[in-house]
Amino acid sequence: MGWELVVKEKFSAAHYLEHYQGKCEHMHGHTFQVEVTLIGNNLDDSGISFDFTHVRERLREILPDHCLLNEVVPGSPSAENLARHFYRLLKEEYPVQSVMVWESENAGARYREDR
Ligand SMILES: [Zn+2]
Repeated sequence: MGWELVVKEKFSAAHYLEHYQGKCEHMHGHTFQVEVTLIGNNLDDSGISFDFTHVRERLREILPDHCLLNEVVPGSPSAENLARHFYRLLKEEYPVQSVMVWESENAGARYREDR
């Protein structure tokens, strides 16, 4: 029993897919949308389990805005690898359940680890 809290943020960046044949092997850009889902089991006296402001600030710090993602993310910077990368960084501080990275309005990848 508990809450799922969702924080979203956008960033713009360039990437190309490595070991891939198709149009995405060429450098191009996206405005990515990132959705972080946290687990909240308890509420404080003000009725919240996490301060969204703090989570969003931390999220903004780690998002590689206006970067070439191939230089900052381990492996080929697919939506899948980006989601896992952000998950691991945020998990150090927050009880993250999953991270979803939308590469466009219609396509994205969610990363979670079984508990
Ligand atoms: Zn792409």
